[in-house]
Amino acid sequence: MPDLWEKKYKCPICGSTVISKRVFSEKVRIKRYESDLKPIYEGINPILYSVVVCDSCHYSALESDFEMSVSPILLQDVRKVQGEIRNTEILNFAKERDHKTAIFAYALAILFYEAKKQPCKVAEMYLRMGWLYRELDDEENENKALAKALSSFETCYLNTYIESDKEPMILFYLAELSRRFQKRDDATKWFSTLVSKYKNSTSFYLKAGKERWQELREK
Ligand SMILES: [Zn+2]
Repeated sequence: MPDLWEKKYKCPICGSTVISKRVFSEKVRIKRYESDLKPIYEGINPILYSVVVCDSCHYSALESDFEMSVSPILLQDVRKVQGEIRNTEILNFAKERDHKTAIFAYALAILFYEAKKQPCKVAEMYLRMGWLYRELDDEENENKALAKALSSFETCYLNTYIESDKEPMILFYLAELSRRFQKRDDATKWFSTLVSKYKNSTSFYLKAGKERWQELREK
């Protein structure tokens, strides 16, 4: 059985049909998680295929919201991004993706989420981009991407409405990324917010957050 299948989407900006590969869900096997909850997959890595890219107009977004229409007020900024994109013809996003192609897809999605004023999505894109650089052992670019993820999570948390099912994840990354970049006071503040606000939650992020906070206090 193959790992990938092809799904068709309709680009909400130019109306083209976009074909993008998806990983069969039964092929996704998580072996374990790293300390920042990055999954280590056995076999194919579905993170390579999370972003759908329109090959006609370059519009890019996560698979889960690619087809959502864009508010007319934001269209001008989206078009501005489209006018600035160059050199995508060397990459084929519809085929099997290597890390370089996937990182480029995330970079495109970041530009569009910025244009659409969605800092929480920008933060998640930088986080996954950092993880892809980690898999390439490119520590310099991993740190750059994760530093951007942290500042985007800060903008997201402080300036946008957060749904309560998303908040434990956002607090976890505010804390964990602050810890990574030696911002100990910030890390303590965010871990304690996570643990006190969600103490009765069954969230995976709460459990991991308690462990990381404990480690931080023991140091
Ligand atoms: Zn398009």
